[in-house]
Amino acid sequence: MMIVMKEGASQEQVDAIVAKVESVGATAHVSRGELMTVIGAIGDREHVANLELDGYPGVDHVTPITKPYKLASLQFRKGRHSVLDIGGRRIGGEHFMTIAGPCTVESREVMLDTARIVKESGAQLLRGGAYKPRTSPYSFQGLGGEGLRLLQEAKEETGLPIVTELMDARDLEAVAEVADVIQLGARNMQNYTLLTEVGRSGIPVLIKRGLSSTIEELMMAAEYVLKEGNESVILCERGIRTFESAYRFTLDLMAIPVLKEQTHLPVVVDPSHAAGRRDWVLPMSLAAAAAGADGIIVEVHPEPDAAICDGPQQLVAEGFPDYLRQVEAAAALAGKAVPSRV
Ligand code: PEP
Ligand code: MN
Repeated sequence: MMIVMKEGASQEQVDAIVAKVESVGATAHVSRGELMTVIGAIGDREHVANLELDGYPGVDHVTPITKPYKLASLQFRKGRHSVLDIGGRRIGGEHFMTIAGPCTVESREVMLDTARIVKESGAQLLRGGAYKPRTSPYSFQGLGGEGLRLLQEAKEETGLPIVTELMDARDLEAVAEVADVIQLGARNMQNYTLLTEVGRSGIPVLIKRGLSSTIEELMMAAEYVLKEGNESVILCERGIRTFESAYRFTLDLMAIPVLKEQTHLPVVVDPSHAAGRRDWVLPMSLAAAAAGADGIIVEVHPEPDAAICDGPQQLVAEGFPDYLRQVEAAAALAGKAVPSRV
């Protein structure tokens, strides 16, 4: 339920509505705009509806939000898409953001070499996993704390904000020291305790769509983070499981316009994990950018054939600046600003 207050409604009137909403066990989220204030009532719909807030002093109108997600809905933000600031780089609205780096932090040399190329190419954020979700327990699991230290070094040298994955709430404190954006991987999209912890941390979060999750389930995952008062959430389409086995995952490009219509949150696309092969990464990146994605998260490595994991899908770092120019041109077609050329 969304309670839209009249222009110029007083603080006392807003407080009275909040108290009413809370009196039936619901939570009130107050969003103050330049002209008007909107109160989102989250809780049992029937209880809130029974309050009949329509006639209350200061209330302009009451709109039920019929979707199960509320804070993530575009309606909640009065139809305005959010623009997030990550270490001075913006994403959302007209701002396109490229996040690039190796699959995993595997050595100092690989991390720093990649970071330099990512920086010089004009991409905005640097990625790299210190904790890796691997299908086999016998595969490389990431460098852990040492990986975080190398990310910190790359950040200090290039000034690029860092995106890195958190898999276990016990590592939150350590990850929070270096991460400008915490990545919650596809396999953890429905780890509700982890979503809640990251929500409480207040650190921006990138949530990857689960391998077999619907768009609505992705938005409900975001709702867990938003509910804790953390408004910096980026959604990521990274390919889903379908009957098709000719490539790694089916990149669901339809998710872009559908999400843009339903949520105010920025939407990025990961073409690397969907494609599984580097020569398919450019066409899918172009399609995603032209379809209106707010950004791309892509794997890049100086020598992918020698990479510890995901070698076949990682772009060769040398060709990355050229790749990025093409993606930016596609983003411009969708009306996005291209920060690296400004
Ligand atoms: C990754 O980004 O390195 C990764 C493991 O992605 P996903 O969770 O989408 O598989
Ligand atoms: Mn990977």
